[in-house]
Amino acid sequence: MEQQATRERAGAAQARDLAERDVRTIVHPHSVIGEPAEPLVLDRGEGALVWDVRGRSYIDGTCGLWQCPVGHGRRELADAAAEQIAKLEFYSSFGDYSNEPSIKLAEKLLELAPAGLRRVFFTNGGSEGNETAIKLARLAQHHAGHPERTIVLARSAGYHGMGGGSLAATGIDRLREGYGPLVPGIEFLGKPHAVAGDPGTADRLIAELEERIESIGPERIAAFIGEPVLGVGGMVPPPDGYWPRVQEVLRRHGILLIVDEIVTAFGRTGHWFASERYGIEPDMIVTAKGLSSGYIPMGAVLIGQRVLDLAEGAAFLHGFTYNGHPVGAAVALANIEILRRENLLERATTLGTRLLDALRPLEELDHVLEVRGVGLMLGIEFTGGDTSGVQAGARAEGVIVRASGTSIVLSPPLVITEEQVDTLARVLKEQVRAAH
Ligand code: PLP
Repeated sequence: MEQQATRERAGAAQARDLAERDVRTIVHPHSVIGEPAEPLVLDRGEGALVWDVRGRSYIDGTCGLWQCPVGHGRRELADAAAEQIAKLEFYSSFGDYSNEPSIKLAEKLLELAPAGLRRVFFTNGGSEGNETAIKLARLAQHHAGHPERTIVLARSAGYHGMGGGSLAATGIDRLREGYGPLVPGIEFLGKPHAVAGDPGTADRLIAELEERIESIGPERIAAFIGEPVLGVGGMVPPPDGYWPRVQEVLRRHGILLIVDEIVTAFGRTGHWFASERYGIEPDMIVTAKGLSSGYIPMGAVLIGQRVLDLAEGAAFLHGFTYNGHPVGAAVALANIEILRRENLLERATTLGTRLLDALRPLEELDHVLEVRGVGLMLGIEFTGGDTSGVQAGARAEGVIVRASGTSIVLSPPLVITEEQVDTLARVLKEQVRAAH
């Protein structure tokens, strides 16, 4: 008992010390400058659990930023990284340099991807991938003799990252404010959200798409970018029949389809790529996060035949130093092997249903608009107000969830146990019930 108390006191002192040093030295992403929050200093992880430096455990209901399908603490991924670092830590992939892990990973991705995707451009993360896809779409159109095709259609509530083009294509006002002027030539369509399964939503969205293409002029539009399921926008699945119809309209007008699968790929919706689930044949897929389970930054843009045909012979003077990183590729290959070996895609469907069923009764509350989800991507949308109290309350009870606008979003590791799913649901329900 006494030993335990001594350990707890030491843990608390270490947590205070680290928190003070953090506040003195670090500007965190998504923080208020000059008003640093007291950080939760994490120390280790295993499966769906993480521990802070005090030794308290938390069920990771979001996988950090939804990046970790295989869960935390995988020795196998540490070994894959260490072996590759010891052999060849890095060499640039610019021009005619290459490395074996990148080549193997490109082959693997093209094997898993929907039909029609033919080549891979590696990146370090999601924003870089979307910058790449937007630039490549514009270059391809330009090179094919359509220099006036520069406009990119994006959607309200869509999230595509924090770079020049990727932020410009992000349809969330609070993230854009103060950074203007953003990259020009992005046009926004309405939020693809069918509340309570409204059967007319897809019709309205397709009519809007057709009208906007008509009013802008199809000959000025390079591409359309969208997430199969809105992530940061609240984990919103598409209205029934939406994607095949969007694709048909875009094809008819020679507009390229960029599908942002930075969150949705690698099992999250029960498939390697959500494009498969929704019947999408993308011209480009952008992915990251679950590709390496976040053990090391890694992303990829999968490029389809139409883009390659349009851009054939074009000089693609684009790239970032660490593209094609052999360590990232080695970790991604080992990560994909774990997802396959442990049947984690199926698990996302089974456990996603269990979690959704457990949370569904919250829809009876006046302040809850909707509980929704696909696979292990779930959202609870409030009728308004702030959801950060739920995030804080759940954390105090040992459960990490994320407040995203008026929604609470969930995306636990696919290895989460049934018992952990039940605890997560119980704690979250208590917090949501108390939050009005
Ligand atoms: N696109 C989507 C759908 C995302 O959810 C994110 C990150 O959350 C990004 C793009 C940006 O990726 P990154 O933060 O790796 O640059």
